[in-house]
Amino acid sequence: CVYGAVDGPPHWNYLTEGGVFEWCHLFKTCCGDQQSPINFDTNSVQSEPFAPIRFQGYDTKPNSIKMKNNGHAIYIDVSYPGPLPVMSDGGLNAEYTLASFHFHWGSDNEQGAEHTVNGVYYPLEMHIVHFNSKYGTVDKALKNTDGLAVLGIFYEVTEEDNPALDEIIKEFSSVVYDGDSKTISKPNFSLQDLFPVSTEYFFRYFGSLTTPPCNEVVTWTVFEVPQTLSLKQLNAFRGLMRSKKNDTPNNMTLSDNYRPIQKLKGRKILKRRVSGGSNSVSAQFPLLFTAAASALGSRL
Ligand SMILES: [Zn+2]
Repeated sequence: CVYGAVDGPPHWNYLTEGGVFEWCHLFKTCCGDQQSPINFDTNSVQSEPFAPIRFQGYDTKPNSIKMKNNGHAIYIDVSYPGPLPVMSDGGLNAEYTLASFHFHWGSDNEQGAEHTVNGVYYPLEMHIVHFNSKYGTVDKALKNTDGLAVLGIFYEVTEEDNPALDEIIKEFSSVVYDGDSKTISKPNFSLQDLFPVSTEYFFRYFGSLTTPPCNEVVTWTVFEVPQTLSLKQLNAFRGLMRSKKNDTPNNMTLSDNYRPIQKLKGRKILKRRVSGGSNSVSAQFPLLFTAAASALGSRL
């Protein structure tokens, strides 16, 4: 998803009954032909010699972050002392400004991400939302097909905690329930700390917000190399609630907040061809993918 709170009716959720499969009835735009998320079939992606994405300001630590639980996910708005981080190049046709980020995760390790690679799910996916700088705000950008650019980052489970993510997770006790929010001053991480070890390899396609109203305004960039977190950290996400504090009962957990895979309907998926290097990410990062494969094997 990209756009967090939907004020007023219609209400929507991720339940399989009366929920995620009903969005198309509730929001006409969710029935479009360019919907997200999708599966990346690595045998049928089209290779493109994109330049690397140019990231500016992502290594600066935010002045403050505001975390909120909106009952659908954890959303984090970011404030900077100076200019907001911007990205360009990499086949993007404009400069895009950082707006916020959020997460989708599963109740077990075999689901949770929104996009899949060859049908396989990672347990968590982070979305970093950007608006086309020429529109100035997310709200204005949402009305234009070139309005948003979202970075998708997969996470896989490893033994080690992810220290940057811990800066966020340690505040989860303040955002347990739908409607809770918490501002953290001078958090000790930069957005770059949450990037995967390589941003060289990515999938690119045109799609939509993955939450209602599913606007088809998103240039997606999904990195092939995953980030990591520990099982303890992933379980912290699973401890959050989609209930409001005053609900009875108030213990409905917030997990499996991902939309099912949508049809391509003729869209092309592009993958960056890395010049001068290996085009096989598994050749470039063999240890990482051995770990991923064995983790996968152990749950089959
Ligand atoms: Zn999202």
